[in-house]
Amino acid sequence: MDLERIHAAVAAYLRDAAPSDAARLEFFEGLYGVLDERAQGVAAANGYAAPSAGETGELFAAGTPVFSKAPVAIDADEFGATCAAVASYMAAHAGLDADVASALGAFDWVRFAQRADLAQAGSDPTAFVNDVLANLGAFDVPADMPANLCAMTVMFALRAHLEPASESVCAVYAQSVAEGGEHAPASIDCPVCGSPASASWVGNTGDTSGSGRRQYCAQCGAQWHFDRVRCGRCGTRNQGHLHYTNVEGDRAHRLQTCDECGAYERVVFQDDLPEGVPFVMEVEDVVMAPLDAVAQQREA
Ligand SMILES: [Zn+2]
Ligand SMILES: [Zn+2]
Repeated sequence: MDLERIHAAVAAYLRDAAPSDAARLEFFEGLYGVLDERAQGVAAANGYAAPSAGETGELFAAGTPVFSKAPVAIDADEFGATCAAVASYMAAHAGLDADVASALGAFDWVRFAQRADLAQAGSDPTAFVNDVLANLGAFDVPADMPANLCAMTVMFALRAHLEPASESVCAVYAQSVAEGGEHAPASIDCPVCGSPASASWVGNTGDTSGSGRRQYCAQCGAQWHFDRVRCGRCGTRNQGHLHYTNVEGDRAHRLQTCDECGAYERVVFQDDLPEGVPFVMEVEDVVMAPLDAVAQQREA
């Protein structure tokens, strides 16, 4: 996570942000600081050995998430400490009702982590989060703690524990491509951790083709090559079924909607970004949050 760039991008957006947008940006800026500090501790504590360039290239080409074959080791006490750090940050800064905030802060996250299936968390984080959500009672999650807050705490904490490993997989994959390996992964979802993409961007990807598209995974931080004309949910390449829409006056942040699966994806167009905004997906992901409401209005 490039905190310096995140701070610069947030500062640029804050110059003329509406109060609610400003509050969201500042919340995430602080949260990324918490996650980055935890990620650095995790990376220092237990190194992750990514598969070789050849193996990584084969997994990408087969559409098999790398973590499913080379899982990330997640220490229960460390993960519990990360969850507790995220929860107390959210309790203090997320604008929650006092009783919800105190339930979130008071929950015993270390005990939760000791009972959770962290082998699954390190190999299939999306399934892990779904299983936690389906079994909140088994973890003694108090009734006054909303399930979505519990899930958010766990997902944010997982980012800190997965990111260092994801970074090394992405570096190894870049090496595999440089050695002539496959340029695009076969899977639609994240080729590193298997989670669905959070958002996407179109712009200068450094490819020989000039302008390209990348998917971004908020769960592990990976980015990967993706076709310009393709649905990031169902994978269709039928141009007639894919449409772009945006809020008037903001062509930098668009919704790509798909007639085939009915889903949508949020896409940043780098060339249309306001002057002087450093490009960083962690911030763009936050800036595009209101597009989810736009998409839901369209569906309604
Ligand atoms: Zn991922
Ligand atoms: Zn689709």
